[in-house]
Amino acid sequence: MDQYGKQAYDEYRQILRAGIAAQFESCVRCGICAGSCSFYTETGEPRYTPIWKAELLRRAYEQDATLLGKLRSLLGWGYKWDYDTLKQWSVLDYEACTSCNRCAQACPMGISIGALIHKAREGLAAAGVVPEDLQKVTRKAVEEGSPLGVTREVFEERMEWIAEEWEVEIPTDLEGMDDLVVFTSIEIQKFPTGIAAIAKILNAAGLRWTISREGREITNFGAFVGDAAITKQIALRIVEAAEKLKVKRVIISECGHANDVMRWSLPNLLGHRPPFEVVHITEVMADLLASGRIQLKEGAYKGGPITYHDPCKVVRRGGIVEEPRILMKAVAGEQFREMKENREKNWCCGGGGGVISIGEAEPLRMKAFGVKVRQIEEIGAQVVATSCSNCRLQFVDGVKHYNLPVKVTTVSELVAAALLPGKGGN
Ligand code: SF4
Ligand code: SF4
Repeated sequence: MDQYGKQAYDEYRQILRAGIAAQFESCVRCGICAGSCSFYTETGEPRYTPIWKAELLRRAYEQDATLLGKLRSLLGWGYKWDYDTLKQWSVLDYEACTSCNRCAQACPMGISIGALIHKAREGLAAAGVVPEDLQKVTRKAVEEGSPLGVTREVFEERMEWIAEEWEVEIPTDLEGMDDLVVFTSIEIQKFPTGIAAIAKILNAAGLRWTISREGREITNFGAFVGDAAITKQIALRIVEAAEKLKVKRVIISECGHANDVMRWSLPNLLGHRPPFEVVHITEVMADLLASGRIQLKEGAYKGGPITYHDPCKVVRRGGIVEEPRILMKAVAGEQFREMKENREKNWCCGGGGGVISIGEAEPLRMKAFGVKVRQIEEIGAQVVATSCSNCRLQFVDGVKHYNLPVKVTTVSELVAAALLPGKGGN
């Protein structure tokens, strides 16, 4: 066991609890989870079987807590805990898993495989054996406040430009508003149309909202890497901004993992519930439509057959199932088509969980996208909308890679394009 192995092993010993042990003991090695993971189905490689990706953590459990494991170690037949071994697991756990947790739904024993793989990442992160690209963007997020270079100056410039270019008001650092809206670094740097769309909708509804220069983006690479301290540090930027501006709600823009972190992990990270509600933008828009605060022009959508991709962290972890569909149907009517596997059963896009930021993982993530190609072609969709900017980026890359005649957009942009002049005067 070298120093890297020791760090990972020690971390796992801290993490291992009865709940995790019970899950490993429950696995009957049926292999059913394999068929639910696009990294496996699109490559056929056994090493991409979901439960195998949690094997490093299982080995720690076996070695630390079982008679057989202890005996093996005593006889010198224990598992290897060194840098080279960890590096191999690092490739599997970071590059071939998006933490989508689709596998957990398939497992007849109810094992939360995605969560176990995430725990496996925690040991790798503790040992510092994280793919270099992922490590680099995480460092940037910690040191500069953003993985994609959204410094305070860049943020101000981008927001001013978006407001001017799309003629939309973006209230900034206003105290005492109801809502703080936080966008992702991908939206800020790559999809400004999404920001303009959300601003237009909120203004049309007459919501009292603001953005914050300090809590300026919601992307949390601590969660991807599996480092609780960094996850907390990044999340605290939003918490502090929300507290300073005295808002009642934090609205997560089109982002899946931020919804997960801010909604479900934050109370555990803080040790208490935050003093504000956390909602996803699709929930806000569905509420605004239901209450008549926004109205949509019938027949405004003319883009052809359209479908919705459920982001894993919005649907499976977030439980936000019908809201995007209500909005999509209101916009596109009969043109809306469901993919064969939809809602909680939807296939992952293959780019989440930090995978998209790892250069060397690109060929594999494009392979994993193959399942989305089939889903889209099966129903003849010409447009795909989603509600996560990370999924959106993966779709943009995937559509280009497979040369598909498909347009990629978001629910917010569809809603904004169909918006009737609203109460807010926009
Ligand atoms: S969480 Fe998703 S990507 Fe990871 S192993 Fe399970 S199905 Fe595959
Ligand atoms: S489906 Fe569940 S029980 Fe079967 S191999 Fe996978 S984790 Fe184990």
